[in-house]
Amino acid sequence: MSKIQMTTPLVEMDGDEMTRILWQMIKDELILPYVDLKTEYYDLGLKHRNETDDQVTVDSANATLKYGVAVKCATITPNAARVKEYDLKEMWKSPNGTIRAILDGTVFRAPIIIKGINPVVSCWKKPITLARHAYGDVYKNVEIKVPGPGKAELVFTAADGTETRETIHEFKGPGIIQGIHNTIASITSFAYACFNYALETKQDLWFATKDTISKKYDHTFKDIFQDIYDSEYKEKFEKAGIKYFYTLIDDAVARVVKEEGGFIWACKNYDGDVMSDMVSSAFGSLSMMTSVLVSPKGAFEYEAAHGTIQRHYYRYLEGEEPKSNPVATIFAWSGALKKRGELDNLPELTAFGEKLEKAVVDTIESGVMTADLARLSVIENAKTVNTKEFFAAIRERL
Ligand code: NAP
Ligand code: MG
Repeated sequence: MSKIQMTTPLVEMDGDEMTRILWQMIKDELILPYVDLKTEYYDLGLKHRNETDDQVTVDSANATLKYGVAVKCATITPNAARVKEYDLKEMWKSPNGTIRAILDGTVFRAPIIIKGINPVVSCWKKPITLARHAYGDVYKNVEIKVPGPGKAELVFTAADGTETRETIHEFKGPGIIQGIHNTIASITSFAYACFNYALETKQDLWFATKDTISKKYDHTFKDIFQDIYDSEYKEKFEKAGIKYFYTLIDDAVARVVKEEGGFIWACKNYDGDVMSDMVSSAFGSLSMMTSVLVSPKGAFEYEAAHGTIQRHYYRYLEGEEPKSNPVATIFAWSGALKKRGELDNLPELTAFGEKLEKAVVDTIESGVMTADLARLSVIENAKTVNTKEFFAAIRERL
């Protein structure tokens, strides 16, 4: 059989621990036998990030801007324990944070739907994609513990020295205050990423904030989305047969659990943090959540939503046969290959990505699955397999 050809390389970002092992298995078992794989390889494993003073992370993000499509393995975000474990020169920043800052993107997360692995919310039939704004608000806050009586004020000093003041509260006793911000540039690129992704995937777009209470802060998010929609996307959406829909965040939450899915739900940073955990847990398992970072600069980075599955890795190091579920990482590869096929006009490559995904879904629906899914499945005569056996079953179908 002749292998499927590629013209532009994928930016390949290798990672850490158990997912690094899965990464190699995916390539060896499911991709290299069929595709004449072209990648530009960046080793984002913590050891190599440390050796390069994290320059490799920056280089991989710049390569993503150059080529347009990346596939990323899960990576360790160092904490104090990791600094010791890997003898790090310093506590390097989160690679995802570094990459996001360069690509200026929005993260879209969607569950992979399997018949027989039913969402907790019984009316959900199609995936709900969560689009999370990943800049500012409470994640970049400034806080003060107020010790006793006094006046708290919000002050903005313009570049020319002019001051704008608002009283926050006249404290009669102890309390707490918090300052948060966002930028028009970041909200604007969030809006573009959401509208483009909706068009690309032909799904309705929902957006919700609390603009009735937050008449300037949240209202600005609402206005930016509406202005961009009216001036640049209204016609395109009508042509594609999809809708943009704005509502209040509490109304959105109430509606989401009564719909059947199949839409994109754009959330401010905190709402997205909380709601993406709710949506992914209600759909089943973290190991079945795909994630793609879409940059307004025209780049795409595909990954799994979960981490490096540390506990499984330590058991693997002790000699245990891998039992982790590789599905979300396989879908990161298939997503990247499909996108590369689409951009380079290589229908065979796109079709391969689709077939790979179908082989995975069919394998699970036939009852062959890893332990994390077996716990949730109502499929009759389901067989729990380890990672290697799971790969073999997928390959047979492929
Ligand atoms: P994790 O890797 O997401 O795993 C947490 C638990 O979820 C696992 O112990 C396992 O539960 C289950 N799980 C997750 N993915 C699974 C899969 N594919 N198959 C089967 N079970 C799966 O989170 P973590 O262990 O807390 O974090 C490990 C490292 O990942 C951290 O250093 C963190 O910095 C990093 N991280 C990276 C990313 C990223 O690169 N995008 C995201 C999050 C975390 P059981 O042990 O109960 O089987
Ligand atoms: Mg969270």
